[in-house]
Amino acid sequence: LSDDVVATDPTTIALHSADMPGLRAGQAVALVRARTTEDVSTTLRIAHETRTPVVPQGARSGLAGAATAIDGSILLDLSEMNRILRIDTSDRAAVVQPGVIVADLQAAVEAHGLFYPPDPASADRATIGGTIATNAGGMRCIKYGVTRDSVRSLQIVLADGTVARTRPATIKGVAGLDLTSLIVGSEGTLAVITEATLSLIPAPGRPRGVTATFASLAEAFAAADEIASGHRLPATLEFLDGVALTGVRMVQPELAIPHDAVAWLIAITDAHVGAEDDLASYEAAFRAHGARTVMRAETPEELAVQLTARRALNPALNAIRGGATHGDLAVPRSLLRDLAVLADELSAETGLPISLAGHIGDGNLHPTVIYDPEDPAQVELAHVTSAKLHELAQAVGGTISGEHGVGVVKLGSVDGELAPALREIQRGIKRIFDPLGILNPGRKL
Ligand SMILES: Cc1cc2nc3c(=O)[nH]c(=O)nc-3n(C[C@H](O)[C@H](O)[C@H](O)COP(=O)(O)OP(=O)(O)OC[C@H]3O[C@@H](n4cnc5c(N)ncnc54)[C@H](O)[C@@H]3O)c2cc1C
Repeated sequence: LSDDVVATDPTTIALHSADMPGLRAGQAVALVRARTTEDVSTTLRIAHETRTPVVPQGARSGLAGAATAIDGSILLDLSEMNRILRIDTSDRAAVVQPGVIVADLQAAVEAHGLFYPPDPASADRATIGGTIATNAGGMRCIKYGVTRDSVRSLQIVLADGTVARTRPATIKGVAGLDLTSLIVGSEGTLAVITEATLSLIPAPGRPRGVTATFASLAEAFAAADEIASGHRLPATLEFLDGVALTGVRMVQPELAIPHDAVAWLIAITDAHVGAEDDLASYEAAFRAHGARTVMRAETPEELAVQLTARRALNPALNAIRGGATHGDLAVPRSLLRDLAVLADELSAETGLPISLAGHIGDGNLHPTVIYDPEDPAQVELAHVTSAKLHELAQAVGGTISGEHGVGVVKLGSVDGELAPALREIQRGIKRIFDPLGILNPGRKL
């Protein structure tokens, strides 16, 4: 590897050692800024020979600590492999390197009248490789699915440096087991992604939406349920609860959220045909379930304003007491009410406000416990409460992560939803891909 690809000075390494959760990072021995698949292959061959752990990294925007440095590891940064290699309108596919930023790909395919649906809120910084490795979600999953649904084929580098393709880049293909799906969401523990062939779809229509506020959670859940289970599927169906709205009023007072509102919903359609009927049906569902205010957003500008409340979620929650645990869980949508009741009880027990805002259309919420960071007892209690919330999700048949992944942050909770025999099978798969255990060890599995 050439000198300009490898850095070993501690300052540079330290700058690349953390991701978003701000966990204490280990001390890596080198940073490789890969520019080619050959660089990745060489790095893994050396790591394999020397039994050195390797931490693949994209933009390090992950929220599970999966890209944090491990002691004695090589940090393998893929962010400079950032070229869109081909946009094929006939095959409706894009072939890209792993470091391409999601928003850049979205804009590039848009110029061809096409659409790349995965849209995590971090799209302006997250990489294609990172979003595939975490199977990222976002606000459009109710209609378009998660990242996995847009991945056709991957070029991967195996733990010993071998370069391989998971399957031909055909639309259909069932020869062999579906290893593409296995790599998606594997958080860098099975292989390193060096190229992706992604499925594109025709560009949808102009997004238009309706927002509503409610004076009770039950009304908002009933309205969301009617929309999500109806035949006019929205592209986006998002939810803010009373705690989140308290924070939104603090950071976005100009939105004038009514003071009696304890729930907020937005339903967005991007249909070419029938959009007006979609909006009318969302509006009717909101009104039928007691919405206090209903507003339409017809233009991109109006929609951007309406979405401000949802986009302000994290700063809003932080504003309430200064500290907030940012969680991620998913339950079958029909069980959201049960989860909300349990979260309410937990909030009453601890005296800490809990928000359950998020992607209500997918049953994927971002439970957040609010605390005062200056009060060590509250900090401790908030984190214990957050862990309990995730356990509650498992107890009602859900999961500890709908989209952010396991990383190290949630490793201890996986047993709550995976039978020991299945967990052992998963570790066995890891051993087949990575017999020496050098690929992102101690994460995900
Ligand atoms: C403000 C904000 C909003 C967010 N919103 C969402 C959201 O709406 N939905 C959502 O799902 N997530 C969201 N996230 C989380 C995060 O952005 C996603 O998990 C994203 O997919 C991570 O991409 P990345 O390039 O930053 O990957 P990193 O954080 O660098 O890495 C994530 C994982 O992928 C692995 N990896 C990275 N590149 C490769 C590769 N080429 N080959 C193999 N493994 C690799 C890493 O080892 C690690 O395990 C948000 C984060 C922030 C900060």
